[in-house]
Amino acid sequence: MKEEIAVLLEKLIQFKSTSSNLPELKNIIDFVENFLSDVPDLIARRYVVSGKPSIYLSYYNTYHPDILFVGHLDVVDAREEDFVPRREGDLLYGRGSIDMKGSCAVIMEMIRELSKESQKPNVGFLFTTDEEIGSENGVKYLVEKEGIGGEFVIIPDGGEDFQLVVEGKGVFHVKIVAKGKATHGSRIFNGENALDKLVSIYNEIKSHFHPEPCGDPDHWHNTINLGKMIGGDSVNRVPDYAEMYLDIRFVHPFTVQKMEEMIKEVLSKYPDTQYELISTGNTVFTSKDNPYLMKYKRIAESILKRSVPFTKEHGATDGRFFSERGMAVLITAPKGGNIHGNDEWVNLNSLVDLFNIFLRFVKEK
Ligand SMILES: [Zn+2]
Repeated sequence: MKEEIAVLLEKLIQFKSTSSNLPELKNIIDFVENFLSDVPDLIARRYVVSGKPSIYLSYYNTYHPDILFVGHLDVVDAREEDFVPRREGDLLYGRGSIDMKGSCAVIMEMIRELSKESQKPNVGFLFTTDEEIGSENGVKYLVEKEGIGGEFVIIPDGGEDFQLVVEGKGVFHVKIVAKGKATHGSRIFNGENALDKLVSIYNEIKSHFHPEPCGDPDHWHNTINLGKMIGGDSVNRVPDYAEMYLDIRFVHPFTVQKMEEMIKEVLSKYPDTQYELISTGNTVFTSKDNPYLMKYKRIAESILKRSVPFTKEHGATDGRFFSERGMAVLITAPKGGNIHGNDEWVNLNSLVDLFNIFLRFVKEK
């Protein structure tokens, strides 16, 4: 199986499927569909939303199978040479090898392998092409508008070397605007400084967060970053307009709604202010005693012959779209490195391990 996975992955890497390359995104989804076109009983449904193609495959006529595998075939920009796969021993180099065409190749080979089963498991497979730019027209649309989901959702795109990511932080990007009254810098008492107002608002919002250093090595707490602040045009003028952009990350059981309430409450004390949500996403939170998760952990440990720990993810993942609808999500990944950098790589033996774990997981009753 190692050779089959490697050859398939080499083909996938050669597609320059960066998020903005719409023709190539279509080509790679065509390739997936063609690769699986002779698998009996497999139902394929294709979607195109704002030019971004996706494909959903299942053995039964359902959008909510027992197990749903989710993968993205878009990649971030890379040098020309990173789209030429290169093998060195057990390692395969190339853009997308670990993020996450390697895992997609494993899923595709698993679908072919499952075709030999007389009684097909109730499993679905989703491949999208806009994860690297926020999944608006991929997973987000498909979950929210088409109702695609699963009892247990596996996203092999995060968590180093088979670790089991069962918690992820939520994200809350907000723009806050303050208006004031312009006047000369020598007569501030006749005006109202919009920047000054934002500074006060920022400090008040910040008081809801742990200051760093916090003493927690995992930093499993809410954080805030003032990423951008704009306002004013001259040293001797009181600015009448200012805006700032905050990047807030939060942990379960906080929610987007709770964050918004906090922002509203602070802003209510400052006249002539408003906010606008730029992008938001809830946390991922899967209970460690979920039966699917326990079964997955047992099988992974048996195949890898070592323990695989639970872990947490600071960055946002596609898992949030499923988790906020109450679905159990597991994020895990094979062994690889240099994600988004030069010479991205994946260990081919770890892809075989992933294949064996997935296969046993879906076959075992
Ligand atoms: Zn901290």
